[in-house]
Amino acid sequence: MSTSEHAPPQPAESWAGTADEWAGKVHNAELPSGMRVSFRFPSLGEMIELEALPADLLEIAVAEWAEPGAAAQLAAQPYAELAEQDEEPTEEQREQADEHARAISEKVARLNRHLVARALVAPRLTIEELARAPYSDLEMLARLINRLDPFDAAGRRIGPEPITTFLVFAEEHECAPGCPACETARGRLSTVQ
Ligand SMILES: [Zn+2]
Repeated sequence: MSTSEHAPPQPAESWAGTADEWAGKVHNAELPSGMRVSFRFPSLGEMIELEALPADLLEIAVAEWAEPGAAAQLAAQPYAELAEQDEEPTEEQREQADEHARAISEKVARLNRHLVARALVAPRLTIEELARAPYSDLEMLARLINRLDPFDAAGRRIGPEPITTFLVFAEEHECAPGCPACETARGRLSTVQ
C-alpha cells in the first residue's frame, strides 16, 4: 500500500444526475464482425406501453418483461410436458412440440430485432435493415441489451468499470483526483460514453 494519500475519484458535480442522464446513457460497443455501434438500453415496459410492438409479440414481451428468460421457458414447456407424461410420446406429439418451440423462437427473434432497432443510437437501422446485418452481430447485440452478456466483442464491460477495479489503477498511478490519464483508462475499459 502506498503511503501517499489518494482520495477516491469524486463525481465532478453533485451526486444526483441530470434529467438527460436519466434518459439513458449511450454505450459504445464492438460486435463480432468488428462493427462499432452506439446503443441505449431499451425498456420493454416502455415499448409495451407505447404500443411499439406488433400485437402478436405482446404476450411474449409481457412474459419476458415480468421475468427475463420466460420466453425460453415457454418454448421448452411442451418438451417438459412430454417428458412428464407416462406413455412414450407419439411422433405427432413430438412434431407439435417442435413446431411450438420454433414458433416461440421466431417470436423471440422478432422481439429482439424490435429491441435492437429501438436500442441503436448509431447507426440507426429499421427492422428491415437489421435483417441484412450479420446474424452473430445481432445475436451479441441482443444479448448485450438483454443484459445477458457483460462484455462486448472487444472485452469492454457493458456499463461503468466498478469503482473497486478502477481504484487499483488510481492508487498505482499516485495521481491527483480527476487525473485525465486515469479517466481515459476508465473510459477505455467500459462502453459508457
Ligand atoms: Zn491517474
